[in-house]
Amino acid sequence: MSQTKTNSVSYMHPNEHGYFGQFGGAYIPEMLHRNVEELRSRYLEIMHEPSFVAAFHQLLRDYVGRPSPLFLAERLSALHNTRIYLKREDLNHTGAHKINNAIGQVLLAQRLGKKRIIAETGAGQHGVATATVCALMGLECIVYMGEKDIERQAPNVARMQMLGAKVVAATSGSKTLKDATNEAIRDWINHPNDTHYVIGSVVGPHPYPDMVARFQSVISEETRWQLKEKTGSELPTHVIACVGGGSNAAGAFYHFLDEPAVQLIAVEAAGLGVYSGMSAATSQLGKPGILHGSKSLVMQTEDGQVVEPHSISAGLDYPGIGPLHAHLFESGRATFLSATDEEALQAAFEVTKLEGIIPALETAHAFAALKQMSFKANDVVVLCLSGRGDKDLATYMHAMQKND
Ligand SMILES: *Cc1c(COP(=O)(O)O)cnc(C)c1O
Repeated sequence: MSQTKTNSVSYMHPNEHGYFGQFGGAYIPEMLHRNVEELRSRYLEIMHEPSFVAAFHQLLRDYVGRPSPLFLAERLSALHNTRIYLKREDLNHTGAHKINNAIGQVLLAQRLGKKRIIAETGAGQHGVATATVCALMGLECIVYMGEKDIERQAPNVARMQMLGAKVVAATSGSKTLKDATNEAIRDWINHPNDTHYVIGSVVGPHPYPDMVARFQSVISEETRWQLKEKTGSELPTHVIACVGGGSNAAGAFYHFLDEPAVQLIAVEAAGLGVYSGMSAATSQLGKPGILHGSKSLVMQTEDGQVVEPHSISAGLDYPGIGPLHAHLFESGRATFLSATDEEALQAAFEVTKLEGIIPALETAHAFAALKQMSFKANDVVVLCLSGRGDKDLATYMHAMQKND
C-alpha cells in the first residue's frame, strides 16, 4: 500500500484509502461513518462536474478577487540577493487563503443537499470565512469555538455574529481548538442528514486532506501561468509557505509536487524554541499517531497524550500537520524549517517596512525562514503570502511598545 519509495507515483494524490505514504486514512467513530462515506464517495465526481467548476471559479473571480497577484518584491529580493515573488493571498476577500476552501466546500455541501453548515475555528479566521460564504448563500451556519478563544478573539466573534452565524462555546478541556473540533464532530454525529462539516485545513479523515488541497491548489495553478508571463518559465526554484495544518502550503506546493526541480520549503512555528517545551514544530517533535481522524505526525507524550502546542500565531498553534505534509517530510520531498515567535515578529516588521505589506503573523514565519536559506541571484523564489496582518495588530502594537 505504500507509495513512498517510487518516483513514478505522484505526491499529489493519496491512494484509494486516503494514504499519502504511511499517513492519512480515516480513523473515525462508527457513528460518523455514514457522513464521511457519503462525502468520500461523491466528492471527486461533484468537483469535476462542469457546473460545479464554473460556479467555483466564478465566485473565486468575482467574489474573492482571484487571480491573486504574483508580486515581485524588489527590496526584499535585493536584501536576499535573489528574486522573490509574493503570492498575494492576503488580498483575497476576508484576508487570507481560507476563503478558497470555504467556498469549495459550501458549494459541494449544496450539491449533497445539505442545508446546515458547521465548522470549528481557533482564532476565528476559518469561522469567518465559512460564515461569510454561508451569508452569501443563505445557509444556516454554526461555528464551534473554544470558550478561551471566544474571549481572546472578540473581533472575529463579532464578525461571525454580524454575518449571521451562531458561535457556540466549547467549554471542555483546554477550551481551545481541539475542544471546538470535538464539539463539531459531536454535532455532525447528531445531524447526519442535513449537515456538512467544513474543516478548515488539510487535516481530518479522508477525503478532507485531499479535498481541501484540491480547493487550495488554485494558488499554484495560478502561480504557474503567472511565472510563465513574468519569467518565461512556469517553474520557480523554490516555493516557501508556513504550515499550521498545512492548507496554504498544500495549495502553494500542489502543482509543483511532481516537479523535482522545484524545492518545497515548509515553515513551522518554533514558538519559544523547538526544544523549549513551548513550540508547534510538529515535524521536528511529532511521532506517528492519530489526531482528528487521520494518521499523521502528532506532538504527543510517551504514552500518546497530545501535547499542548504554543505559537504566537493562532493559525500555527496546532499539535499536528496534515498527512500530505507528514509524507513530504518523511520522504524528504519538502524541507521543513521553523521560526520562533521573536523571529516571526522581526520578519513582520522588516517586510512591512521593505514592501509596504503588513503580513499575518502566520505568514511572517515564512518570511523569517528566508534568513535561514541562501539563494543564487537568478533563483526564482515564490513565497505564499497566506494572509494580511490586520487581525494581528494588537500583537504587533504590543511588540512595538516593548521595543520602545
Ligand atoms: C489559518 C492560517 C494559516 C495556517 O493554516 P494552514 O492550513 O496551515 O494554511 C496560515 N496563514 C493564515 C493567514 C491563516 O489564516
